Amino acid sequence: MTVMPRHDRRGPVRVRGDGDGRPRQGWLGFGMPRLPLALLVLLLGASSWAQTLPEPDAPVLRPHLEAHVCEAGDVPVARNAAEEARFAMRARYRTVLPAFLARVGEEPDAVLRMPVEGLRVAQVADTFGAPRGGGRGHDGQDLFAPRGTPVRAAAPGLVYRIDDLSLGALSVTVVAGGGHRHFYTHLDAVPDDLREGQRVDASSVIGFVGNSGNAAGTPTHLHFGVYAGTDENPCAWEPLDPLPLLVDRD
Ligand SMILES: [Zn+2]
Repeated sequence: MTVMPRHDRRGPVRVRGDGDGRPRQGWLGFGMPRLPLALLVLLLGASSWAQTLPEPDAPVLRPHLEAHVCEAGDVPVARNAAEEARFAMRARYRTVLPAFLARVGEEPDAVLRMPVEGLRVAQVADTFGAPRGGGRGHDGQDLFAPRGTPVRAAAPGLVYRIDDLSLGALSVTVVAGGGHRHFYTHLDAVPDDLREGQRVDASSVIGFVGNSGNAAGTPTHLHFGVYAGTDENPCAWEPLDPLPLLVDRD
């Protein structure tokens, strides 16, 4: 089993306004020596490692994928320590991705429900593929809404990743039908009880709109991306435009 360091999924990312990931001032701060505190944090971390796998009662629906190995592919050369940490984190997650892909149905969802509460599909300006810095295209849709607006899963699935703010934007990735990965990012916060591996349905709140990461300084919005594997490589991250599949919730 692959384990995950505690720092990839510790609690403070779920707390509004505590985005640097450090325990808040005064937390067990009444004269406790540093070493025992560090041990306590390690022990708490160890108890949560198993949660990076799908929850045990999620049935294996595509057994041929369970033992699949995601190839490393072309790992870009890290330009700084943050990138290096991000690439290492992706490599760790890649080892558990097949377990998630094996536990979702064969068919991708035919419709995706609007993830941002109160927003209508007709209000979304299509920016999929629009030019972005560094020669890249925009590989999702930006759904603008006030800070703190609830974000619900667009389709049922398994929470694959909850990304720590220390490595960029606060993000949640859900593996949905057909192994499509639904990526929700620039979140302001995620619910206290959201866990990697857990099942969500299309009514589950998985986060709150913000502008974390490289969206800081821009109007608050949810960046919603959908990525699919290919026949040859189920672990691939091929961006798909979610807009044609989006429907209003009511
Ligand atoms: Zn975007």
